[in-house]
Amino acid sequence: MATPALDGLGMPLGDGLADLVPDSIIAFDADGIIRLWNRGAEQLFGWMAEEAIGQPADALLATSHPFGLSFIADALAADGEWSGELFRTTAGGRELYLSVRRILRRDAHGRGALTIEWARDAHQVSEGEISAHRFSNLFHAMAAAFWELDFSDVRKAIGGLVAAGETDIPAYLRANPDFIDRAIRMVRVIDVNEKVLEMYGLPSREVALAGPMDWAWPRESRWVFAESLVAAAERRDSFSVETAFDTWDGRRIDGLFTVCWPTDHKARGTVLVGVIDITDRKRAFQELEASEERYRTLFEHMPVALLQLDMQPLYDRLGELARAGVADLAAYVEDTPGFLDEVLMLPQIQEANIEGLRLLGVDSVEELRGPIVWAWRERPETIRRSLAARLRGERQYSEETVITRPDGTPVDVIYTMAFPPALMQRGFNVVGLVDISERKRAGEALRRSEERLRAIQAEFSHASRISTLGELTASIAHEVNQPLAAIAASGQASLRWLDRAEPDLAEVVALAGDIVADANRASDIIARIRGMAMKRDPDPRPLALNAMVEEALLIVRHEALGRDVAIETRFAEGLPPVSGDRVQLQQVVVNLALNAIQAIAGAGREERRVSVSTAAGAGDTVEILVRDSGPGIAPTDLGHLFTGFFTTKESGMGMGLAICRSIVQSHGGSIGAENVPGGACFRVTLPLAGG
Ligand code: ADP
Repeated sequence: MATPALDGLGMPLGDGLADLVPDSIIAFDADGIIRLWNRGAEQLFGWMAEEAIGQPADALLATSHPFGLSFIADALAADGEWSGELFRTTAGGRELYLSVRRILRRDAHGRGALTIEWARDAHQVSEGEISAHRFSNLFHAMAAAFWELDFSDVRKAIGGLVAAGETDIPAYLRANPDFIDRAIRMVRVIDVNEKVLEMYGLPSREVALAGPMDWAWPRESRWVFAESLVAAAERRDSFSVETAFDTWDGRRIDGLFTVCWPTDHKARGTVLVGVIDITDRKRAFQELEASEERYRTLFEHMPVALLQLDMQPLYDRLGELARAGVADLAAYVEDTPGFLDEVLMLPQIQEANIEGLRLLGVDSVEELRGPIVWAWRERPETIRRSLAARLRGERQYSEETVITRPDGTPVDVIYTMAFPPALMQRGFNVVGLVDISERKRAGEALRRSEERLRAIQAEFSHASRISTLGELTASIAHEVNQPLAAIAASGQASLRWLDRAEPDLAEVVALAGDIVADANRASDIIARIRGMAMKRDPDPRPLALNAMVEEALLIVRHEALGRDVAIETRFAEGLPPVSGDRVQLQQVVVNLALNAIQAIAGAGREERRVSVSTAAGAGDTVEILVRDSGPGIAPTDLGHLFTGFFTTKESGMGMGLAICRSIVQSHGGSIGAENVPGGACFRVTLPLAGG
């Protein structure tokens, strides 16, 4: 089907209606992208609807107009419709001269949403249609104000000058402005058309015919009057110039003034003057100049490097391919070896702003002439991806990359290429480059100092583990001693069983089993202590929280027993894993548990209990709570427990909690302390793995 429905655009031409018309009917959106393509268009231009829809209309059809395409766009935007002739090229490469009518359908916001275009080969347009067209041209021409003027008195006055021996009339006029003023007043108005009344703000025809029309000539325009006298003297057919006029009601207008002396008028001594009001056009032109100027100023002084590229040769090349029937240009570029390298030779830098020259390390844009291949030496894939984005019809492409200066040095940049339709129609694009080499260097320095910080933190936590082990020496020795003593006892018992006249081998086997179990117990204890004592880099991995806490508590179990403190645990079930370094997190648990045991022992409390529990925390977190039945923390100390070198113990260092905090924070968690009824409570919050 040639005309898919145009969803959401309120398009009555959808559903195949456009196919009922034998002529070409196409529609394109505000970006010039073809949205509708009827059978007539398929026949006229040679592309099927599937090929044409989604393509930029003017690029596909190589549309051109003698005044440029923006002329049509302006007329369309102003009047909502436009008719005229256009040149285009068919898929087969045939040049067409088309008679075209366009109407603009605006969207709910009054902006141009869709342009619907009817087109027919201009050579096929019937005579009737042509003359209707001509008539409309004539009608538009009537928008001029026409004055029929009687110059006979002026002619007589000039004749008098010649009779008095004046040979150089132009020189005389230049030297005698008073004569021009008098001559203007000698002109009599014979007739005016309606447009004169409107343009010059005259109340009636009678007023226009009543007196001299010197009010219309401001002083600075009187030379125009003189020039037209000279033109008449030189027997030219017409004379045309832009000049200012005053109106009857006191306005100043810009007019295109044309005076002509048609043969029949010459006989009557009258001339025809036509004036077209070009005030708006002039203002629009000035505004255009001003906006060009603004663009230039902005371009020049933006603190971003901007390069204006001439892309026309590249677009022409791609246009050729499209006309040769290549439907998927992006795929073609990818799949055709050497093609990209070939087309990348085509774009050239037209302009570069101050920052652009600085970034590229050159003094003038002249040094950037020629193919820009030098820029992509380091990262050719950037320009490949950028071109692919353009071919997919995206409005801009941006990425962080490296470009190479003409002198061969690389620069880290954020590269942005914009493809605004307005620029693309004129065949150029703007590339923006933001120099991020400084930022990158700063980032690297930051990363290095963070690495150093982590190394120092690892050193500290190691030192602190050693010192914790130091505190535990007595209970560790005792703990290791227990299985060793049991091994010795079992060994002696075995010897006794073997020493009998009839050795009881079954007993010996059982005892040997006990020996192995005790030896394993001792070796487990030593492995745990070695784990704490060893110096190693943090090794984060998913950890089951409860098992990690349980194992940590084995290290302080003996210390608690020795001080007659009971350790209770309450583990929440089904907790998701956390991500962390097992030894470091165990160090936190050991520190908190040991502090709790010491606090209770130091206070000589009756109730001697530490309760360690795990729980799901707020959001994606889990918590470890260590609560004791000790004296609690003095309210004034709560604020600086974790700051380091704060201790209330005689041989304390005050580093334990500071290191706990740094470990927990490096795991993305937090630690806090509070007093609860009957003691202190420390709470460690950790994020879940992957959370
Ligand atoms: P240290 O154990 O060397 O004093 P820490 O940083 O581990 O260093 O502890 C700092 C101080 O915090 C301790 O001296 C003690 O005053 C206080 N503290 C820590 N845990 C507890 C607790 N469970 N109950 C009461 N006070 C505590």
